[in-house]
Amino acid sequence: MKPPPFRYHRAETLDQALGVLAAEGEGAKLLAGGQSLMPLLNFRLLRPAVLVDINRVAGLDGVVETASGLRIGAMTRHAAIAEAAPVARHFPLIVAAMAELGHPAIRYRGTIGGSLAQADPAAEWPLLAVLLDARILTRSPRGEGAHAAGQFFLSALTTALAADEIITAVEFPHLSAGAGWGFAELARRQGDFALAAVAVTLTRVDQRARDVRIALLGGGDTPCRARAAEAVLEGEELAASSLAAAIDALRRDAAPPSDLHASAEYRRELLGVLAGRALAAAWRRAGGE
Ligand SMILES: Cc1cc2nc3c(=O)[nH]c(=O)nc-3n(C[C@H](O)[C@H](O)[C@H](O)COP(=O)(O)OP(=O)(O)OC[C@H]3O[C@@H](n4cnc5c(N)ncnc54)[C@H](O)[C@@H]3O)c2cc1C
Repeated sequence: MKPPPFRYHRAETLDQALGVLAAEGEGAKLLAGGQSLMPLLNFRLLRPAVLVDINRVAGLDGVVETASGLRIGAMTRHAAIAEAAPVARHFPLIVAAMAELGHPAIRYRGTIGGSLAQADPAAEWPLLAVLLDARILTRSPRGEGAHAAGQFFLSALTTALAADEIITAVEFPHLSAGAGWGFAELARRQGDFALAAVAVTLTRVDQRARDVRIALLGGGDTPCRARAAEAVLEGEELAASSLAAAIDALRRDAAPPSDLHASAEYRRELLGVLAGRALAAAWRRAGGE
């Protein structure tokens, strides 16, 4: 199908883009990589009066290493992030997750800012942002702002962003030295949106798991931390019994959706299997194996 008619505004600066959003209100939509927006227009699920293209706005692109972590510009493409040396050095977890995000064509066009703003419950970036305690930096007519990823995703496709607020960058704080990571996802076919995924980081101190973080995709209508499972493992050795107890806690706490792709029961079972794989991988890596 073809999109409904819309006006097109190519912004050259962030202030120009902010000006159009302020003037048009809910009738304006930012155009980043277009990988979610254009299908929505083509299916006529959205009818914006004006598209504000921010692809030419300077300063929104690139990966920068800072003293506290990584700062990734909102317009940085998924593929460019996966290929950036500081990401490979500090967050190999992100590189692994990007390999599961759609197809190469999607990864070369889609942006981190667009993915977070879209807040698809089956998308990898929201999961990573929640796991890694990312800060989502924004600009609006009220000035600069920041959202903690943990409070950003309100429900499926809905975030805490105001209609006149633009994501400018995302900050990922460094993990503790020696942290291990694990990522496990299942999609029906390579490149499809995930049915479920689990991402983990932890450190291993004297054979005990510390700073255990487990985040779920498919465990609710937004990505979420599996707090009960984290508490089960904190300070414990990762052995068959502690792993089984953590997976039980995770399955009890998860509230997976049922849809035409999978039932809630299937997703709950799957989340436990994926968590087992991701936790075991994180434990091995944290031990230098
Ligand atoms: C066939 C297909 C398969 C896909 N598979 C996956 C997958 O497996 N995993 C996955 O995560 N994604 C997948 N995607 C989606 C893809 O990752 C998109 O790139 C991403 O969701 C949106 O990024 P975008 O830059 O294309 O944003 P756009 O489509 O341009 O915009 C999406 C939304 O975000 C808003 N927006 C964009 N940039 C900003 C900003 N800086 N500030 C505020 N709002 C902004 C737009 O106004 C719009 O509402 C798939 C897409 C397709 C078409």
